[in-house]
This record gives sequence, structure tokens and C-alpha cells, in this order.
Amino acid sequence: MTRVFHWREQSPAIAGLGVDWGFTSTRGGSSVGDFASLNLGGNVGDDPCAVESNRALVAGALDVQRDHLLFMSQCHGSDIAFVDRPWQGEPPAVDGLVTTSTDLALAVLVADCTPVLLVDRVAGVAAAVHVGRPGMMAGIVGRAVDAMADLGARSISAVVGPSVCGRCYEVPEVMRTQAAKISPVASAISWQGTPAIDVAAGVVDQLRARSVVVQWIAGCSRESEALFSYRRRHRTGRFAGFVRLLQAHTEGGV
Ligand SMILES: [Zn+2]
Repeated sequence: MTRVFHWREQSPAIAGLGVDWGFTSTRGGSSVGDFASLNLGGNVGDDPCAVESNRALVAGALDVQRDHLLFMSQCHGSDIAFVDRPWQGEPPAVDGLVTTSTDLALAVLVADCTPVLLVDRVAGVAAAVHVGRPGMMAGIVGRAVDAMADLGARSISAVVGPSVCGRCYEVPEVMRTQAAKISPVASAISWQGTPAIDVAAGVVDQLRARSVVVQWIAGCSRESEALFSYRRRHRTGRFAGFVRLLQAHTEGGV
């Protein structure tokens, strides 16, 4: 079977709720050409029918109805939206979603940016966050942690997904200096020896500063054909990070 997921973990409910979270790959979908084959991004030049077919495929794999797999209208901002039901109309223009529902799967689309998934299984709160360089600079993961805390989260675990690595993200010196002021570990050196930024390292640093337990998934989107990368090829698809809380099973009187 074609490997749809770059990484996935399905952890059943033990103490608190379970969680199903992970990241899709470029494989197993029906898009062709520059978007082959599991492109989940709309408005990138792909056939909308193929995108919808791919989104339905992922929803099926996550065992949710298609309209319960929620994508946001990402805009490199720092706003987080709470959601407890399928969208009525257009998705909100935000870069983070938070839910307490076990019926919804939250998705974040990327092609070099850092997808961050968060969960507190005891409190029953989950979040998906899109973090590009602007989001790291604005501290969007801290805002997501705050939004989760408002819903009762006290012990948060995160998975930071594959993104463009520090070696592959060359930037002007002034940009690296600005990033280093936010998080020193975001300062990097490119394969060419020029200034670069490691956004994901900065994000991991920001999460740990908030006492979040972090698991960082290996993989550089620019270097791996199993992931979409805007820096490798501008006309390309988007892969997704997703997170879904799983209901505790109560049969058998346990
Ligand atoms: Zn790289």
C-alpha cells in the first residue's frame, strides 16, 4: 500500500482521551504533475476535484466525516480560533485551531513551514498550528498554549512536524539577527555557509519554555521528495499535519 503518512501515531485512550496525530506525505493521492500526488492545498493551482478527493481520502483514513476534517485559511498571522463543529461557510483566516471535540480532526497545511500539533489528553484539548517565520517571530505557539490553558489544559504534549531545515533556509543577515533575538537557536548557517534560519528549532525552544513536552519528527521538506517544498519548487502541493482526540471506550463497564 502506498505510504500516505510521513509519520502517524494512534494512541488509544488510557488515562484521559486518546490521540491520532501525524503528517501526510506526497504519496497516495490523485493529483498529477507538480502536485503529485497527495496535494491537500487549495488555491495552489491544482485541480480542485483532485484536492477534494485527496482530502476525502485523508478524512477516511482518520475515520472522520469529510466535513469534520477542518482546514483553516492560513495567513501567516498569529490568531487562534476555537472550533467545536464543522465550518458554516468559509474557514476563518487564522493560523491555529483549538478544539475539545472528539468528532473533529484539525489540519494544518505546509510546504516548508512548521506544522505543530498539541494535545492535553487529560483536559481533552487539541490544537493544530501553522508556524512560518512570521509565526515564530510573533510567538504563535505561545498563543496556542494560552488558548489551550483557557480550556483547562495544564499538561501539554506537542509534535513538531517536518519542515525546511536550517541548512536549507537561507535568509538575509538582518533577518537572521531578528530571529536570533526571539530565539538564539533559530540562528543557522546554510549549506552555502550564508545566514539562515531554523524556524522549527525556534518553535521547539518556544514550546519548551512553556513546559510543553516536545517530540520533533525528522525530515527536511526541501531535501525529501516525500514532502512538498515551496523552496524546492514554487509550483507545488501542500502536505498536512493533523490531530484528532479519540474518545475513551466505555464498553464492558471499564
Ligand atoms: Zn534541509
